[in-house]
Amino acid sequence: SLEGIVSKRGDAPYVSGRTRTWTKAKCRAGHEVVIGGYVTTEGRFRSLLVGVHRGDNFAYVGRVGTGYGMAKVKGLLPKLQAVETATSPFNGVGAPKKTAGVLWLKPVLVAEIEFAGWTSDGLVRQAAFKALREDKPAAEVEVEKPAPPANAEVVRPAAPTSSKPSRRGDKVDVMGVLISNPDKSLWPDANDSHPVTKEDLARYYEAVGPWLIKHIVGRPCSIIRAPDGIAGEQFFQRHAMPGTSNLLELVTVFGDKKPYLQIDRVEGLAAVAQVGALELHPWNCEPYRPESPGRLVFDLDPGPDVPFSTVVEAARKMRDRLNELGLTSFCKTTGGKGLHVVAPLAVARRNKISWAEAKGFAHDVCQKMARENPDLYLIKMNKNLRNGRIFLDYLRNDRMATAVAPLSPRARPGAPVSMPLTWTEVKADLDPKRFTIRTVPGLLAKSTAWQDYCDGQRPLDQAMKRLSKVKHAA
Ligand code: ATP
Ligand code: MN
Repeated sequence: SLEGIVSKRGDAPYVSGRTRTWTKAKCRAGHEVVIGGYVTTEGRFRSLLVGVHRGDNFAYVGRVGTGYGMAKVKGLLPKLQAVETATSPFNGVGAPKKTAGVLWLKPVLVAEIEFAGWTSDGLVRQAAFKALREDKPAAEVEVEKPAPPANAEVVRPAAPTSSKPSRRGDKVDVMGVLISNPDKSLWPDANDSHPVTKEDLARYYEAVGPWLIKHIVGRPCSIIRAPDGIAGEQFFQRHAMPGTSNLLELVTVFGDKKPYLQIDRVEGLAAVAQVGALELHPWNCEPYRPESPGRLVFDLDPGPDVPFSTVVEAARKMRDRLNELGLTSFCKTTGGKGLHVVAPLAVARRNKISWAEAKGFAHDVCQKMARENPDLYLIKMNKNLRNGRIFLDYLRNDRMATAVAPLSPRARPGAPVSMPLTWTEVKADLDPKRFTIRTVPGLLAKSTAWQDYCDGQRPLDQAMKRLSKVKHAA
């Protein structure tokens, strides 16, 4: 039950104040909330009404009803009274109504709270007040993000959520989120003749969450929902909807008024499992910078009669080409028919690369590969040309284009997973069907795949220069 870990960059001095050289990693999500009101009965302080910033909204996340000793209230009240205001700061779905005894506040005070988890509609459960965080501006409560856990083994505090399945009525608690209909079958089986249930999906996300989250954090992320399982209706959802859990972030991007979904914390994965999200499809932008390409994804799509070993060969060829251009790449199965080759980009503050440049570069690389081996590869989307060949799809590399996230399950028979691989594993006998919701947590624990992903980031402008030199030489 530790509160968290404070760490400092090894070579940085000890300084006071909030700087980038130290971080606080908390054991639980949402420790901090912004106070938007309080409730009194007969003039006596009762509870705080709290929220978090989500996009342009100040969203209500519930009532903090305990934790108020006499001394605490005495210290707290004058600070509340100093920021009282006539109108409610809360907006969006579920904002509380003005009732007797409610006083509204400007959303400027940050409270540290302790709570048992989240309800399925994103309210805090059993929240207790701990203290005011006077060192932290309220505007920062929205940017609080789980620190990317490097490949460290994280010992979870003994919370009832992960140690033993805790059932509450007909619901089950995963990462603090209540999952309804946990026994509902989403896949008939994972090649093992046992149904894969909604609880299995949520627990899969819990198991691989710390690894997966690094690859979707800060990026708008579409989800494919199949609330009645893969045989039922499927929805490709980009935007937030009324009732979207508060554990998900909302991001507004240029050119679209409606906010996009974004998943920045592992608990958000349980929240999307709760609404039947079987697949995660993030943008390929730099985290928190939707206008900047953050990785290139080369999608190798084999025609129907291409043996998988040929796709493997294509991925290795693509790696060598990227390598020659100074780019490091990583391979994953898609959970479907093909393979993805992913090249992380180093994004410079100056010298920004545009989406048009990223897409143009990916096009040129694929075109060159297709021209040199037209019997094997093509870059036109034309389906009937594809027979016997591999379509090199460079179109994942555009603004708003998505690709399935590494470790995302697929809404396809057998509950397959898009599995990150080491290049050694990308060999002729690779069998992508091995990687399922059931097998991947165990395999991932032993794998070193993508461990050096961040070290692999390379600037695209240099690769662009190299490519144009090769072009001119040819
Ligand atoms: P495979 O190896 O089988 O080709 P894949 O992930 O590369 O797997 P698809 O599932 O065909 O390929 O998806 C292609 C892309 O289209 C994905 O990156 C996904 O983000 C996007 N996509 C999938 N479904 C939809 C949809 N209904 N609407 C918009 N985009 C979608
Ligand atoms: Mn594909």
